[in-house]
Amino acid sequence: MSRVHNFSAGPAALPLEVLETIRNDLPDWLGSGMSVMEVSHRGKDFVELAARAEATLRDLLKVPDDYSVLFPQGGATMQMAMAPLNLTAQGDAVDYVVTGSWGKKAAGEARKFCNVNIASDASDRNFTYIPEELSWQRSEQAAYLHYTPNETIAGVEFNFVPGGDVPLVADMSSNILSRAIDVSRFGVIYAGAQKNIGPAGITLVIVRNELLERARPDNPHLMTWKSYADSDSMTNTPPTFAWYVADLVFQWLKGQGGMDAIGAVNQRKSDKLYAAIDASDFYSNPVAIDCRSRMNVPFILADAALDGKFLEESAVAGLANLKGHRSVGGMRASIYNAVSEEAVDALIAFMAEFEKVNG
Ligand code: PMP
Repeated sequence: MSRVHNFSAGPAALPLEVLETIRNDLPDWLGSGMSVMEVSHRGKDFVELAARAEATLRDLLKVPDDYSVLFPQGGATMQMAMAPLNLTAQGDAVDYVVTGSWGKKAAGEARKFCNVNIASDASDRNFTYIPEELSWQRSEQAAYLHYTPNETIAGVEFNFVPGGDVPLVADMSSNILSRAIDVSRFGVIYAGAQKNIGPAGITLVIVRNELLERARPDNPHLMTWKSYADSDSMTNTPPTFAWYVADLVFQWLKGQGGMDAIGAVNQRKSDKLYAAIDASDFYSNPVAIDCRSRMNVPFILADAALDGKFLEESAVAGLANLKGHRSVGGMRASIYNAVSEEAVDALIAFMAEFEKVNG
């Protein structure tokens, strides 16, 4: 078997131990004589799996009791519509802090349903910084403030949680479960699965229970958080395989020592990669130092004509998916939880060698 180090931004790497469990379980899950994809989601075994996934996730993130944990489908993009549909009435004002492409997309979606005020917008410097919180122009009476704690494309991550009295809605798709967080600071946290949770097809939403009462009465059933809260996320047939993998990933995270341990490894991984980039004249990263992402590390080569060669040779060296997002160019190494420190070391060694030969 030959596995590569996968630096994809998503769908992203999964832990090898999890893949091995899946391979082992696949034809005959828990002695059922069927795969997990073939059993009833209402059967005892699957209901137990769902309960364990929620309990493990709650334990990992220390989710307070007055919050619901939901597993809808539709990805983070569907939550960009569900947030306004579940938290506002038509005409309500909402604040959006736009520090990258995903926050911009979320604001665009919300604009269809309510009055969006862009409280802050970092596009003036190509989304390479986070504007001072004091400079944000917030509404008098916003239903919520939405922001993106980690912008996956430009690699910009908040190192603080915004203040204020209104509920915070956070798109944590690309940094959920990467370190400990204080869930009680948030009204709603949502995340697509395909980075730190499992396969695409399932989505995580953590919502303070009192906010479940604000949904528009004419919302479709599947666009209403409360439908999921009232049915243990089995309001219709759920994505059972993705849920099963998420459960395995949560258990794997627990086995790694939980969020404090994972957070420390992620800090080390990103510190050493940025240190290597900063120490070289050949590679560079344009993001302000205090808000560089620990999950997505974009970097450019001094000579863009070498991009193709870098990508070809890195792939041959077993380092996959380093091509940067088309809107930024250059390279991007996404170093989510399942990307080991050894993989980051291998990338750094490859970069040094490539610079020596081509720099
Ligand atoms: N938000 C962020 C921060 C993302 O990184 C992504 C996907 N890369 C999305 C939203 C969209 O997620 P999905 O494809 O699950 O809708």
